[in-house]
Amino acid sequence: MSEAVRSRLTVTDHSRTSAGLLYIYPVVSRRAGGVSVGINLNTNNACNWRCIYCQVPDLVKGAPAPIDMDQLRRELLGFLEEVIHGDFLTTRVPAGARRLNDIALSGNGEPTSAKEFGEVINLIGEARDLAKVPERVKTVLITNGSLMHRVNVQRGVKQLARLNGEIWFKIDRATDSGIRVINNARVSMSRVREHLAAAARLCPTWIQTCLFALDGQGPDDRERQAYLDFVRECLRDGIALRGVLLYGLARQSFQPEASRLTPLPPEALESFAQHIRALGLDVKVTP
Ligand code: SF4
Repeated sequence: MSEAVRSRLTVTDHSRTSAGLLYIYPVVSRRAGGVSVGINLNTNNACNWRCIYCQVPDLVKGAPAPIDMDQLRRELLGFLEEVIHGDFLTTRVPAGARRLNDIALSGNGEPTSAKEFGEVINLIGEARDLAKVPERVKTVLITNGSLMHRVNVQRGVKQLARLNGEIWFKIDRATDSGIRVINNARVSMSRVREHLAAAARLCPTWIQTCLFALDGQGPDDRERQAYLDFVRECLRDGIALRGVLLYGLARQSFQPEASRLTPLPPEALESFAQHIRALGLDVKVTP
């Protein structure tokens, strides 16, 4: 492990290079009271979407460069060994957060766009076994869900479920036009629904939603209603959702729209959460 790893991590350090590794970065979460081992496959900052709140600096359109699987294996296994059997937690992590919570595929772009996605999931399984990662530790895929129709992605996601897996599936707006504005993506809601259904069929799935004001305005009544209708219809049609992770604007956007975005008051998030809960879904709010 490099010199960069010797300084103590903080709950605000979400840098992808905080461990001095290419693919692996630790994040300390005060809310979750533990450490997440992040895997960043998109080391070139390339994503197939461009969300206006995205925190990736120098984001470009595209997919990751070929993954060096040997390096990823070395880094992941070495890091997990440090966390589980070494002194990483005691020397690097503040008291109160000294436990491993999850391993998360969450990088500087869409992880499922890596050609090696399926192999990466297998590699995580091997590393979990070799490092004797406790079963309670989750393996989380944070995704915009747009490539969930691909056979290799579905295969990977099915395998993910065996690793105490969870999918956090990004749905920020539930109209085609809303997705275009917020995520700069041309995808229809019927397609989103198909992808969400495929994800939930293969692996426990949460919807992940970021709510904020754009030019001083939060999502209007039409957008809010469309979202609630979408969730209601998913539930009616038997899509087995675990719940909704509702986020505010916690960190700074690195996109050109950054100055137009402001957080919503926590009460606004809570009020929207209540409407979702009324549909029968669990909602976790992070203002
Ligand atoms: S999907 Fe994620 S990485 Fe891609 S632009 Fe949106 S927030 Fe950024």
